[in-house]
Amino acid sequence: MNEMTYDDQLELEANLNAGARITLPPPSPITPQITIQRQECDGKWTDETRINEFIDRVVADELRVAGFIEDYAPRNRNQVIEALQNGQTLKYDLDWYANIRQTPQSQNSNNHPALIVCDCGHSVRKEMVMAASMGTSCTNCYDRMSD
Ligand SMILES: [Zn+2]
Repeated sequence: MNEMTYDDQLELEANLNAGARITLPPPSPITPQITIQRQECDGKWTDETRINEFIDRVVADELRVAGFIEDYAPRNRNQVIEALQNGQTLKYDLDWYANIRQTPQSQNSNNHPALIVCDCGHSVRKEMVMAASMGTSCTNCYDRMSD
């Protein structure tokens, strides 16, 4: 996308002005390890499970913006995901509320305390991790994980 010629940009702009659908690259089969929220027209944020679809929409909106702003380098999927992970709110369409963001971490940690995966293979809360001679362990596996 960064190698678009000026003619390419003019053509893209013309297509966009004509209401043409943007041809997107095939969606990635890998769902990024983030959770997102989508803003509703009342301004409230709701959890959105169609992560790949909305990232593709943001990529399409980046191309739309690039059609209007000179020297604007539209962000690709990875850059969009990175921006979300950095806490940015990103537009996926024209409406003022057409935004997505990464689910705020504070909401997650309040409801689900962070779990640590021990060497025994079980996930426990940080304060429950035990140090056995064969590695970290949950309380149930402590004897098995001790020499
Ligand atoms: Zn265990």
